[in-house]
Amino acid sequence: MTHRIRTRFAPSPTGFLHVGGLRTALYSYLFAKNQGGDFVLRIEDTDQKRLVSGATEGLVSVLETVGLFCDEGFRLHEGICEQHGNHGPYIQSERLPLYQRYANELVDREMAYHCFCSAERLTEMREIQIAAKRAPRYDRHCLSLTPSEVEAKKAAGEVSVIRFRIPDDRDIEFTDLIRGTVKFHTRDMDDQVIIKSDGFPTYHLAVVVDDHRMEITHVIRGEEWLPSTPKHILIYEAFGWQLTAFGHLPLLLNPDKSKLSKRQGDVAVEDYLGKGYLKEALINFVALLGWNPGKGETQEIFTLAELREKFDLAKVNKAGAVFDIKKLDWMNAEYIKRMDIDSLFVRLKTGNFLEKELIWQAPDFMQTDIFLKRVLTIEQDRLAKLSEFGEQNPFFFTESIEYDIDLLRWKENTRALTREALEKARTILGALDEPTWGIHAELERVLLEAAGDKRGDFLWPLRVALSGAQRSPSPFDCAWVLGKDATLQRIDAAIRKCAISPDASS
Ligand code: GLU
Repeated sequence: MTHRIRTRFAPSPTGFLHVGGLRTALYSYLFAKNQGGDFVLRIEDTDQKRLVSGATEGLVSVLETVGLFCDEGFRLHEGICEQHGNHGPYIQSERLPLYQRYANELVDREMAYHCFCSAERLTEMREIQIAAKRAPRYDRHCLSLTPSEVEAKKAAGEVSVIRFRIPDDRDIEFTDLIRGTVKFHTRDMDDQVIIKSDGFPTYHLAVVVDDHRMEITHVIRGEEWLPSTPKHILIYEAFGWQLTAFGHLPLLLNPDKSKLSKRQGDVAVEDYLGKGYLKEALINFVALLGWNPGKGETQEIFTLAELREKFDLAKVNKAGAVFDIKKLDWMNAEYIKRMDIDSLFVRLKTGNFLEKELIWQAPDFMQTDIFLKRVLTIEQDRLAKLSEFGEQNPFFFTESIEYDIDLLRWKENTRALTREALEKARTILGALDEPTWGIHAELERVLLEAAGDKRGDFLWPLRVALSGAQRSPSPFDCAWVLGKDATLQRIDAAIRKCAISPDASS
């Protein structure tokens, strides 16, 4: 019988979604979609002490924002998380009786046992083991308790956990989809707690029960879970369940090869979106953290649809993947360049990237959509992030501009010559009718024609008159953005400057 491929992403709702978590979710999603399978989202909240309120909504919202919709699990509906699918509930705290039942089954079959050891006793035991240079392990003090002794202790109100009995002296070997053969030995494994004293399962029991009950065929998760896998395999074996396939993804590293920071601003997916990285660029970048389309393939820009088509777990590297923010900036700039201006403007607006002082304090006409869209058109090819909008060219957002008169002069030209050039520009531009002002190419054509072979002499003063800056977009760009009135006003101001300043160089 061939099974439908089913993968899952199983985050704990303990805070923001880390970029490493996004990569795990993405690879699980891509693998399932590539094979026509299902992608399940499950919330693992067995560690009640670490829960952060709103974290589930945050996780689902970020996943949906970047386009990773699950087939089963959670979806946001009017800001509320709703569960959907035939294998629910999809949150572990709503599945407690199930874990209890399976744990009791293991106890009945003597594959698990109640343990009443106090925290003090366990600490003391570990200290003695460490002092004797032995690896700290539970000493099975409670393994020999008879069922009636267990009942008596429970009746006396003693607190207990349930431990899984790790078989003695067993090799555990499995083939990881990414790392190949992986071997462990049970001598290095502790009798794992599977039900805690608060009645909640530990991750190890819950993850196996859920992956089995949710018919997950492939578990794709971060490398940090690799040491847990032999414990999971033993639990599968204990129940006689068919084992899922496992793939453990390589670590994410800083460029200096250290482990990627945990600081929120550096790794939270929502912060990257908030900084003006496009979701498409982020997904593309994250997809390439450890995966590539294969030898000889040079393509680097992939849509989500292309990734679904090309993704292959066999091409995921074993070695850690370097998170290079410069590459993300480059990729984001590529996406920004390729986007049509109206869609890009919608992103700018809906992402709140126009909500900044630079724009608020500008005269009204500079805050209109038409004006802002023109600035965006000019800046599009140089923007690495949407949050940078307007910042390279603040002169687009001020009533008047300040600059040194000498900046207006092209090379050794005198102020008189500079004034002449500006007056010529004013005459030509002043004569253009309004519709012509709306056509960038036309402004460019007219001004280039007027410049003839004296481009610097004519265009430099005009550009400075409009921008007040040593470096700026071309005078055609500036004039087109500013429009007729503001352009002529700025030229007039520049002409006045030339006239009233003592002209030492003429
Ligand atoms: N709940 C675990 C986490 O927070 C999931 C581990 C797994 O995928 O098995 O990452």
